[in-house]
Amino acid sequence: MNQQTLILIKPDGLKKSLTGNVLTRLSETKLDIVASKIVKVSRELAEQHYIMLKDKPFFDELLKYLMGEYHKKKVMALVYWGDDAIKKVRQICGSTNPEEADPVSIRGAYGRITTKGVYENIIHASANEAEAEREIKLWFQPDDVIIDMYPSKIVKDKCERRIWA
Ligand code: UDP
Ligand code: MG
Repeated sequence: MNQQTLILIKPDGLKKSLTGNVLTRLSETKLDIVASKIVKVSRELAEQHYIMLKDKPFFDELLKYLMGEYHKKKVMALVYWGDDAIKKVRQICGSTNPEEADPVSIRGAYGRITTKGVYENIIHASANEAEAEREIKLWFQPDDVIIDMYPSKIVKDKCERRIWA
């Protein structure tokens, strides 16, 4: 079944010049890239992205990590699309904790745990279809994505554009 999934190459991945390595690993999936951009992450965007973890003791550190306060203030956001996309991508990413992740996975190969206890694990990937929808709509506008995935509507200000319905 075709699915879409949000990928973020987090600031540690960009700082460590791992963009090419990560994209090469992801290309093993044979999925299609249907959207991509470089983003300077605001606190609001980071909070919304990780809203499910807001009660965790590491939440504030996690926000700083995603905003790039420890590396570079940028994230590469992508949408991958294709058969069983969510599972295929999560498999190549590996477990959340880089010490427990398969050493040949992206997180196992390149991740680390900071002295403050945050898992700097290079990459984010949506965990299920509901999460993918919420996250893609948060990071991208309908016109940024080259396929139609979710309902959208046209609004007209200076020129016509689409917003999520
Ligand atoms: N995280 C952390 N410590 C934890 C759990 C999570 O630092 O004990 C960070 C880590 O960067 C992770 C992110 O919070 O990727 C989101 O956590 P989640 O449980 O959603 O894991 P993921 O879906 O990224 O594997
Ligand atoms: Mg998650």
